[in-house]
Amino acid sequence: MTHVVWFKDIHKDDVGLAGGKGANLGEMFNLGFPVPPGFVITADTYKEFIERTEIKDKILSLLQDLDVEDTERLQKIAETIQNMILSTTIPDDLVEEFIENYELLGVTRKKAAEQLVSAHEVFVAVRSSATAEDLPTASFAGQQATLLNVKGKDALIRAVRECWASLFTARAIYYRVKNQFDHAKVFIAVVIQRMVNSETSGVMFTINPAKNTEDELVIEAVYGLGEAIVSGEVNPDLYLVDKDKREIKKIEVKKQEWGLFRNEFGKNEKKAIAPEEQSRQKINGKDIIEIARLGKKLEDHYQHPQDVEWATEQGQIFIVQTRAVTTFKPKEEERAVAVEEQGKILLKGETASAGVYSGVVRIVRDPSELNKILKGDVLVTTMTTPDMVPAMQRAGAIITDEGGMTCHAAIVSREMGTPCIVGTEHATDILKEGEIVTVHASRGIVYEGKIEFKAEEKKEEALAGASEQLLTATEIKVILDLPEMAVKAAATGADGVGLVRSEIMIAKGGIHPAEYIRQGKEEEYVTLLKEGIRQIAKAFSGKPVWIRCSDMRSDEYRNLTGGEKEPKESDPMIGWHGIRRLLDEPKILKAEFQALAELHAEGLSNIGVMVPFVIRADEVKKAKAIMREVGLEPVRDIEFGVMVETPAACWVIEDICKVGISFVSFGTNDLTQLTQGIDRNNERIAKLFDEMHPAVLGEIARVIRTCKKYNVATSICGQAGSKPAMAEFLVHQGIDSISVNVDAVSTIRKTVARVERKVLLERS
Ligand code: PEP
Ligand code: MG
Repeated sequence: MTHVVWFKDIHKDDVGLAGGKGANLGEMFNLGFPVPPGFVITADTYKEFIERTEIKDKILSLLQDLDVEDTERLQKIAETIQNMILSTTIPDDLVEEFIENYELLGVTRKKAAEQLVSAHEVFVAVRSSATAEDLPTASFAGQQATLLNVKGKDALIRAVRECWASLFTARAIYYRVKNQFDHAKVFIAVVIQRMVNSETSGVMFTINPAKNTEDELVIEAVYGLGEAIVSGEVNPDLYLVDKDKREIKKIEVKKQEWGLFRNEFGKNEKKAIAPEEQSRQKINGKDIIEIARLGKKLEDHYQHPQDVEWATEQGQIFIVQTRAVTTFKPKEEERAVAVEEQGKILLKGETASAGVYSGVVRIVRDPSELNKILKGDVLVTTMTTPDMVPAMQRAGAIITDEGGMTCHAAIVSREMGTPCIVGTEHATDILKEGEIVTVHASRGIVYEGKIEFKAEEKKEEALAGASEQLLTATEIKVILDLPEMAVKAAATGADGVGLVRSEIMIAKGGIHPAEYIRQGKEEEYVTLLKEGIRQIAKAFSGKPVWIRCSDMRSDEYRNLTGGEKEPKESDPMIGWHGIRRLLDEPKILKAEFQALAELHAEGLSNIGVMVPFVIRADEVKKAKAIMREVGLEPVRDIEFGVMVETPAACWVIEDICKVGISFVSFGTNDLTQLTQGIDRNNERIAKLFDEMHPAVLGEIARVIRTCKKYNVATSICGQAGSKPAMAEFLVHQGIDSISVNVDAVSTIRKTVARVERKVLLERS
């Protein structure tokens, strides 16, 4: 059996042998593209490993009948399988073969005479390259492990094992089940490729992204590693090339005082550039033309504009990565979606969560009626409340009388991917119990009877987006309130979770937080929170997860045990909730912090926290003091943030920063409501609710400016972050991360990538 194949012996149809990534690299190598040298440990080798060591059947039996929607179980099985692979010894003959080939990568020979010049252990990238019987391309890209700067035999073998194990992350298992791939037929190859020790590097767009035109090509270049460009810390040289004539049209040289370089331990290190080189052109005209030639050749080969990463080492140019430019759209492609018009319109409202669904109407006028919602019913109600979540999860679609884009029903349905129309005003009057309707949520229309619509939206965009792995300096995170959706959310490739509304998991427990305290059952409260948060933190391991302390308005949680004791307020939106309430009842806040402290002690140090509805710096100071009581030092031990969702917070942001915080996150749902004076749940004035109102934008811009002064990170977790126009505005302001709905990760990442590129080019 072939265990190892070098790039020169791999072609594009060898996906079964080398996986998608490996086949692509082989193809590039054989077409004469200067990819760094390397080889592939074949997919059959992985198969041989699991068969010879007799773990194959154990793996498959663990996966049999696994309900991937049962997140806790899925995570447990995923961990068990990964540990099994990581702890099973690879047979000696295989290890020897891998190492022999690895050593060959470090051998330099004089070309003609094949005379040995030197041999040393080199840095390699070790990447998994998945394959499946009916998978023509590497659509699993981004789902499996990549280990960079691996050096030495032991590290190599460890990395190979990690790549094999990564076939069984919870995300990957979930993805396969949802896309109906048979676990038994999915294997994994491993690519071992020498890492270029970049002297200069950069990116190339084979179109001009600033103008969205095809006749020019843009190359950026820096000394050292290209990461410095992506993070925006270093301004690159910019070269514009006429693509057909292969003529340089423009050269802009930027002064570079330092660059990122790999040190002997494989870590990237900032190093000063010699004064005489700082203002020099990074690459000469001949190399610019050569890189442009390669770009054009790549574009012709892939029949699509490319976003290319290149690097040089000892004067030689390498192509390190290429992918399609996703934001480029030739004009003729912009076609309208054909719309069929048929059926009687019963109702109209606002799209809260897109999609089309037909089903039986069930009207819920009182929480006691929730049990009548069966799987697939259309849930119709005045307004949903958090205690309705289990019934909402059973529903095929949701329609409410009241509410706007940021009401509870809208938030939860988006997260679940359930079509939802809000603010119809009369759904509970007009629709009849038991009748069949078609909810065209994307259009905000409810039709009589069952109508078939041509397949339109509602694909699993979130999952499709995972394969793209666009690099953005601005992090794209998700908003996630339901722990059971965590694995699905992580499969989008999001950079973390920017908001976990703890109220939703609290409501599922059925007891009001104040009631736990009244009954002296703080421990039960802590346990409940830990269970939900742990699930999310594990699904996003290695990425930040920001939990919001409870923000419970007095009207929304009345149906929970103890909820009847909540005060009756004339306007709960601006009543006793958020940090003001938590400071009045500090035992609740302390229990919430206690849960986080215990999770940190379990090793889940990716968990951060933020406090809601702040209006004064003093509130932040008091919250920090309570956190110290559970043994956590805010900022130092745990990321500690503040939601900026009141105009007051915007005005006193400087004082808040001075108290010492890690980050702020804009809650634009409340910030817009309070700035505009528009009740966010009132469907009659929903048309006036506008997060892009100059007053809201002015507040955001001001807060970001101040936070930068104090080195406080900035983020957004209101609904507005899922809108491309807001994302564009925020990138221009220099926000650090944007949290979006699970189904918007891919769209917003593309928007952000385009805007970042534009910003860089404008700056150049
Ligand atoms: C906000 O106000 O924007 C926010 C994210 O919090 P919530 O929607 O839960 O009030
Ligand atoms: Mg809010």
